[in-house]
Amino acid sequence: MNFDHEPADILARLDQLRLADAPTHGGRVLSYVYDSGLAELDELAASAIRAVQPVNGLDPTTFTSVAVMEREVVEFARNLLGGDEDVVGTVTTGGTESCLLAVKTARDVWRGSGSTARTGTPRLLAPVTVHAAFQKAAHYFGLELDLVPVGPGGEVAASDLIARLADDVAIVVVSAPSYAHAAMDPVVEVAAAAAEQGIACHVDACIGGWVLPFWEDVEPWNFTVTGVTSISADLHKFGYAPKGASVLLQRDRDRQRAQYFATTRWPGYPIVNPTILGSKSAGPLAAAWAIIQALGTSGLAELAQSCARSTRAVRDVVDGIDGLRIVGDPVGPLVAVSADETVPAGRRVDAHHWADQVRAHGFLLQLQPSLVQSDGTVLPATTHLTITPVTESVLGELSTAMRSAAEEVRGLPAVSVENVLATLPAEAVAALGNPDAGPLDSATAAGLLGALGLGSASEGLPERMAPLLALIAALPAPLTERLLTELLARLIEPRN
Ligand SMILES: *Cc1c(COP(=O)(O)O)cnc(C)c1O
Repeated sequence: MNFDHEPADILARLDQLRLADAPTHGGRVLSYVYDSGLAELDELAASAIRAVQPVNGLDPTTFTSVAVMEREVVEFARNLLGGDEDVVGTVTTGGTESCLLAVKTARDVWRGSGSTARTGTPRLLAPVTVHAAFQKAAHYFGLELDLVPVGPGGEVAASDLIARLADDVAIVVVSAPSYAHAAMDPVVEVAAAAAEQGIACHVDACIGGWVLPFWEDVEPWNFTVTGVTSISADLHKFGYAPKGASVLLQRDRDRQRAQYFATTRWPGYPIVNPTILGSKSAGPLAAAWAIIQALGTSGLAELAQSCARSTRAVRDVVDGIDGLRIVGDPVGPLVAVSADETVPAGRRVDAHHWADQVRAHGFLLQLQPSLVQSDGTVLPATTHLTITPVTESVLGELSTAMRSAAEEVRGLPAVSVENVLATLPAEAVAALGNPDAGPLDSATAAGLLGALGLGSASEGLPERMAPLLALIAALPAPLTERLLTELLARLIEPRN
């Protein structure tokens, strides 16, 4: 066969495209990537993926290797997370899919069937800090979203959640810990109250699941807690697997069967799926399975200890910077940093200017917008750091970057949305200020993006993110969501 392009040229172009990506290794990006720092694990994962490259994970009866690997991963996770023989599970393609399926299961159990079937709209109850995947789940599966305000450190009062438990609640979700602030939710109290009323209680341990078992001084949060009905734990985070792998464990076989979709009512092969996809890669499963076996609990523990040392060090650096503070009482290898409002404005360090400046020093931190809660209280703008084993190899440089950046932006006031708007053409400001004008069409949305300096010509993140985050926090959410949709959609529109 004569190829249109030579494989070597195609791969050379891919290499070049990859050069523009944020670096996935080396500890320079403190979100998105979870680098064990062990090159041999990456090699093992790559070989495992290659070994199953042509396999269809859709059907574990035809490709029996899939069933064996999945069973062994679930078994490992069940033992790690305190489950007994009543706990069963599934490997999914990621945290979002695990969360979606936990909600779908609970919804279908809530509805019931036959003469006792419930109608009406079930409710998903959670602290506002619950991962956005649960907003997506409520949206996809038709649940009412009931988000409870949290305290300034991202902590939720158990009583605030428990007070809202009622017959229409299909599922209450708590996090171990939350992504934005690393807050440990009150799992024991909430799960007990939910169990009393027969309500499902999901523990979202997508980020904590594979590292908290090895963390010190953590309140109980796993299947040893009465009333916990399901737990999500991402293999592609602190299981160090390549993207596309998470586990959803569920207590009680009978409940878990509601996770499945099965139909024989079409002329093709019977469909029996515990997960959302049909045909799917077995690659991430094989990689995660291989990594688990290589590391075992002792390897995972060793890597967690490295994360713990680096997290301690990062916290000490922030504590030592006048004008910045760690938000709340974080548990696990992640922290949120915000301006310290207790010092005079001239000494404060705005968290977003700081993140932009740290980036200029070679480290990519994640900016999180401020949020007005339903009770009117405001969660401050923060900057997020996820610490991984590789962080230890760059701790010196990272500490210097954090300290220098703070010196460089200390006293600089937070970007005000008025200042951002002042740089825009009058028509753009008028359009932004008029959210009642109805849904934006694509052309208008694109025009607004252009006026904001985020036109289709730009690729990648702007150099300074603080102004964008100020807009995200200040504009009406439906408008920002529409604009960001346009931004992402235009990114992949054909160019010629
Ligand atoms: C990452 C994360 C998710 C979503 O996981 P994805 O793998 O990104 O889909 C859900 N909950 C928490 C707490 C997370 O950290």
